[in-house]
Parts: sequence; C-alpha cells; structure tokens
Amino acid sequence: MTPDEFRRYGHQLIDRIADYRSNVASLPVMAQVEPGQLKAALPKAPPQQAEPFEALFADVDRLIMPGLSHWQHPSFFGYFPSNGTLASVLGDYLSTGLGVLGLSWQSSPALTELEETTTDWLRQMVGLSAQWSGVIQDTASTCTLLALICARERASGYSLVSGGMQALDKPLIIYVSRQAHSSVDKAALLAGFGKDNIRYVETDADFALLPAALEQAIQADLAAGLQPCAIVATTGTTTTTASDPLAAIGAIARTHGLWFHVDSAMAGSAMLLPECRWMWDGIEQADSLVLNAHKWLGVAFDCSLYYVRDQEHLIRVMSTNPSYLQSKVDSEVKNLRDWGIPLGRRFRALKLWCLIRAEGVEGLQQRLRRDLANAKWLEAQVCNAPDWQVLAAVNLQTVCLRHAPAGLAGEELDRHTLAWADALNQSGQAYVTPAILDGRWMVRISIGALPTEREHVAALWQHMQQAAAASLPPPLR
Ligand code: PLP
Repeated sequence: MTPDEFRRYGHQLIDRIADYRSNVASLPVMAQVEPGQLKAALPKAPPQQAEPFEALFADVDRLIMPGLSHWQHPSFFGYFPSNGTLASVLGDYLSTGLGVLGLSWQSSPALTELEETTTDWLRQMVGLSAQWSGVIQDTASTCTLLALICARERASGYSLVSGGMQALDKPLIIYVSRQAHSSVDKAALLAGFGKDNIRYVETDADFALLPAALEQAIQADLAAGLQPCAIVATTGTTTTTASDPLAAIGAIARTHGLWFHVDSAMAGSAMLLPECRWMWDGIEQADSLVLNAHKWLGVAFDCSLYYVRDQEHLIRVMSTNPSYLQSKVDSEVKNLRDWGIPLGRRFRALKLWCLIRAEGVEGLQQRLRRDLANAKWLEAQVCNAPDWQVLAAVNLQTVCLRHAPAGLAGEELDRHTLAWADALNQSGQAYVTPAILDGRWMVRISIGALPTEREHVAALWQHMQQAAAASLPPPLR
C-alpha cells in the first residue's frame, strides 16, 4: 500500500469508525453468532493474489461486525468498562503509524520521555507521592508478574548473584485475598511459586482481606519453617470492587519485611477523585502497584501502568544490556527495556497523552462521577424493589445483585439467575456478567462505558425486571 492509498483508505476507515461509534447504540450489545460461524465463513487458505482493500472493508461489514460484542455500547454493563476514547484511539493510530520502537532511549528518545512524563502526570492525578516512578505495560497481569518476580528476587538474594529461588532451603510464600483476581494466581505460578505456596486469606463481610487472618497465616508459615515473601492486596476487586485495608496490610508487610503489591487495575482510575481515595489509605507503604488506564479511565486497550518505589530494584531484576543497545548517553537516560519483560516497546504513552490532553483532569473526573452516581441510583432502585437484593457495598461503579423471590433458593436460584442474565444478554438489549459470590451466582452490573447515561441505566433496570419475571419457573410466574 502506498502512502496515497493509505490516505484514501485511512480516511474511509476513520469515517467507518466514527459512524460505528455514532450508531453503536442501535446494535445488539452481545454478538448474536454461534461458535465457529466466522471460521466457517472465512477461506481456509490465504489469498495468493493481492486483493483490493474495498473487498476487505466489505468483509468487515459482512463477517466481522456481526461477530462483535460491543464494549463501547451505552448498554454494555459486562466485565468492566474498557473505554477507548476516540482521542486515545487517535494516539494509538499515531503510535502505530509512526512505527517506532523503544528498545533504548536512543532508539526513540521521545517515546521514553513522553512515557516518563505521562506516567508522572497520572501519578499526580491519582495522588501518589513523588516517591513513585511509573512505566507502561500491556496489562495488569504482566504488572503483577513483574511485582512477584521482583519480590522473589529480593527475598532470594537475586538469581544472578546467588542461586535465586532454586537455592533456597525454605519455600517462599505469597499471600492474597480469596477475592483476588485470577491473574495473581497466574503471576505467582509464572514467577515460580507453586500452587502450594499461595495462601488465600479470608475476607470480611465486605469481601475485604482480614489483616488478622493474614498475620495468622504468616505466623503459621514461619512456625512451619517457610519463608513469607509477598502480599498482594486489591483495591477494587473484580467481583464486587471491595478494597483491602492497605494501611493494616502495609504494617504487616513492613513488620515481616515482605513485598507489598497492590492490584488497583480497576479502582486505580477512581483515585482521580479525592472522595474515593479512602480506598488507597496506606498505599504509600506498598512496593509496587498496577493501575489499568485501559479500563474505566478511557485509554484504548492496552495501557497498564506499573508504579514502583524502588526503581533501582526493578532495573536490577529486569536489566539486559547487549552491546548493540548501548549508547553513550545511557548513564543520563532511562532505558525502559530495563523496566519490564519485553525488549521492544510500543509508543503507548501517545494514547495516554491524547486522552489526558483532550479531556483534562476535570473532564475525566466529571465522567467518573457521572458513573458513580448512576451506580448509586441503580443501587437505590434495586434496594427498593421487592425480591431484589444488592449483595455488596457499592463503592464504585459496580452493583452486584440478585433477583431472589420467595420460593427460590440454592441451585434453583442459581439456575434462575443464570437464566435471566442469559435471556437479557441474548436479547441484545444489554450485556451483563454473572459471577459467583459466596458460592452462589449473582449478576454484576458494571457501569461506566463512555456513552452510558442515566437513561441507559434506567432502561437496563426495566429490562432486568422483565427478563427476571419471564425467566421464573412456571409455578412462580
Ligand atoms: N486485576 C483486577 C482487579 C481486574 O479486575 C482485572 C481484570 O478484569 C485484572 C487484574 C486483569 O487485568 P488485565 O486484563 O489488564 O491483565
């Protein structure tokens, strides 16, 4: 494709995306396709001859669009908001179009320095002290993996100078809440901690980790001759947006010399709001934290910020320095390959920069507050409706609920919950996510897609009530 052809098709593509965003509300939120449908419609072998780009656009309309569930739809209440603001989409295009890679500062100086600046802007926006330094990674899963590798290396005296974890005579132990995201388990396993070396600490009635249970678990491991290594706490758990008490956990981490990582993948965005910062009380005691700018905040996926207090430690663990990447300014600059696992680095800071500049801190705060108010509004409707229950504190933009009419309990109630949620999703009117809480199915309503206004939440409430009534087993209808 020549630059002129790129200009022509690129303009068409932008028009298509703008039309999509303008009209997305008219589409069924959840994809209405069967497994294997797209694969069956696609050729089994690649084309041998070049095809015109028009043919590709036609296939996007015919084949790809029906196979999408629409995350940018105003009635998307599934999983979590993953907002791709159009300003950040332009930043993403710019990054891809420029085609530069950050292998070292010299390989693209602006890439490194814009990342330093934007991560520092975000640090200020969420009220972290200047002790923290940030870097952009792809996802929270990667950031938590980095944290646990750093924890492992600190506890085991560094693999490059000692035998590392393999040379220890005491197994290293990780502590997480029962409500922690599955990515913490995965990170622990990838960082070399066996399943037997992860302790799942009990939570309280609000689904927040119990510090006393944590202390007890650490004491039991010490008494058994094991070596406590790290604690992972969560601000804004995936299921209910519960927040672990960071100050108390931090004190325990300090007493025992443990690495303290905070997973704020979801709730980190809310720290833009001073009224939500109680959730981060004690954050300054942590060693590392992750905040997904690609969730509620609005940076087009992927853009996950990893902050550390001891950057030298991170660099020591992650540094590689082959001759072809060295330059004479290395002592004066940051080489961000030393701040994570991959060598090559996309220019992700551009999309974060575009978002912050296009919306401003106040614009972002306003949108987050709109979503918090909508969640509170829905909570009030559900609380006031007979047979409906709100199951967890609405700290942020997620409402956990259940339709539980008298006469339905146990597995029958589970079947009813899954039935109405599925009927609602299949209807295309809204998209919600069922999940298990305390051993029983419930439905999470995650509010905060960019175009979601009160009217969409009100419509969701109507649709939920209709779907639940229609899904009742016959004797209860
Ligand atoms: N941590 C929490 C609390 C989450 O809610 C999620 C995703 O939903 C993750 C981690 C994983 O995020 P990512 O997809 O960026 O790895």
